[in-house]
Amino acid sequence: MPDFASWASAWWKPVLFLIVAGHVTNVCVTLFLHRSQTHRGVTFSKVVEIPMRIWLWLSTSIVTKEWVACHRKHHAFADREGDPHSPLIEGLRNIMVKGALYYRKAVRQPEILEKYGKGTPNDWLERYVLERVNWLGIVVMLGVDIYLFGFFVGPLVWAAQMLWIPFWAAGILNGVGHALGYRNFDVKDESRNISPIAIWLGGEELHNNHHADPHSAKFKAKWYEFDIGWAYIRLFQLFGLAKVKYARS
Ligand SMILES: [Zn+2]
Ligand SMILES: [Zn+2]
Repeated sequence: MPDFASWASAWWKPVLFLIVAGHVTNVCVTLFLHRSQTHRGVTFSKVVEIPMRIWLWLSTSIVTKEWVACHRKHHAFADREGDPHSPLIEGLRNIMVKGALYYRKAVRQPEILEKYGKGTPNDWLERYVLERVNWLGIVVMLGVDIYLFGFFVGPLVWAAQMLWIPFWAAGILNGVGHALGYRNFDVKDESRNISPIAIWLGGEELHNNHHADPHSAKFKAKWYEFDIGWAYIRLFQLFGLAKVKYARS
């Protein structure tokens, strides 16, 4: 166990921690919340699923049913009236700056959760911990950050972690992914691929490919594209920890 505040001894340590922790968070969002729970393209063994759920609880306080419902509604209405977060309807600037608020507005409505949130985990862990005290995970994380980085750097690292998903996913992805970038598929909505090498956001940068075939666990569509989320799925599959239900050929 590291000593109190020992990870703040050099400037690069908290920076490295943020990048690694942030990448793990992005991967849990794309693999568990998005490709598995929302679109059912892949299922994971409990050995990887439970750690992913706990990490999301610690680093984001996202409730699976809420995220799934909001995202399924986004697909159902993409860039039309009823889409919870369309830059076409709300304006790119609004989505990029206030993306998380649009998300909260959608998941506050019980009828949306009822209609679009079906089939998400409902076990003991979900009912009594992850959903009931969804705010507790990020409080535990604050304690861990203070222990690792001390009373000054710790809360800064924590604040950056808390802004991570609202910024990258609710802001950049939901905004830029429907406004700027290239298209492989002429789908009805305005979805765009932000980058062909999709490492930073776990493969989610290939957002137009995803809208063209949402059920596919694989977001890559052209030979020059790289979807790191798909690479992780293949790796888990190798060890028998993931079952692919459907992937585009
Ligand atoms: Zn979209
Ligand atoms: Zn989707």
